Amino acid sequence: MTRNIVEIFTEIVQIDSPTGFESEMANYLLTLFKKLGYSPEIDEHNNVFIQTKGVGEPIFLNAHIDTVEPGRGIVPVVKDGIIKSRGETILGADNKVAVAVFIWILEMLAKENINARPLDVLFTTSEESGNYGAVGFDKTKIRAKEGYIFDKDGELGEILSASPYYARFDIQLQGKSAHAARRSESIPVINIMPELIQEIELLRKKGVLINIGRIDGGSVRNTIMGKLTLNGEIRSFNKSLFEEAIEKLEIICNKPDLNVKISNETVIENPGFELDDRDLQVEKKKIESILGKPVRITESYGCSDANIFNEDLEKLKVYVLSDGTYDNHTVDEYVSVENLKELGNLVLGLIKN
Ligand SMILES: [Zn+2]
Repeated sequence: MTRNIVEIFTEIVQIDSPTGFESEMANYLLTLFKKLGYSPEIDEHNNVFIQTKGVGEPIFLNAHIDTVEPGRGIVPVVKDGIIKSRGETILGADNKVAVAVFIWILEMLAKENINARPLDVLFTTSEESGNYGAVGFDKTKIRAKEGYIFDKDGELGEILSASPYYARFDIQLQGKSAHAARRSESIPVINIMPELIQEIELLRKKGVLINIGRIDGGSVRNTIMGKLTLNGEIRSFNKSLFEEAIEKLEIICNKPDLNVKISNETVIENPGFELDDRDLQVEKKKIESILGKPVRITESYGCSDANIFNEDLEKLKVYVLSDGTYDNHTVDEYVSVENLKELGNLVLGLIKN
């Protein structure tokens, strides 16, 4: 007898695995897969990788085992066909619905005779903080040329056609603080802010998304602000527009100013990708025949481990599909039992010959 997906899912969301604290979850997978007779591997990033025998072209399956906070002490509640947390934490459906489905499949393959393709199944860590598990994984181990990631919220039946290039930037303004009464001794940083922000805002245009999400400065009310930081991000589907925005941001930050020192650090976190339309149409048909309903092709400004695996589409093409989860990254996150089972059938359909 194999376990059903709901049983597996509700068990693994109770294993805490916020980003950076995934070792218990990784060890759970390692122990389970060894017990099933597989030879799983774990690397220094706690990524767990397992390969199965099968017939036909190998297929890559990837899910991330880390979750966002509040993600400790999750208690899943199944009620009226909906699975939610008790309300104090997230549920962890992002991305443990996919983790549960892959476990379900691997348990089945170990016990039943299924005509499936060989699988390269990878469970990655630290996806939520910038895909660091995927970045650190040795991709030469992957045999497959194509694969799937189920890491997009919303109703089942969606394929992502593209995902943006992504960079984060941290700008620091350094002046000199002094008591409010001794203004002449200070170099205030606040005065140059409006112009600086306006210039950065002007970099936003069609195809380039720029956002300053956080500003941090000053210490106390009666002191002139001598230091300030801005945290922002740049996203674009277009590589040259993306690079141009980074370059222009650098120019803005390097402009000689009166006294305030401006420094900036831009870090490119992941490349973007755009899948070929003919390939997408083939996948769309395949998925429609399994789900028995129309499939939508959409683009998303969100990123996932697919950005890392799709760096060279000649070597590996990874399709990102929706996973049937809702309100991810909030304490209202949920998935229905029906969607969980349907996701299972979708993955099973994709790996079968
Ligand atoms: Zn996710």
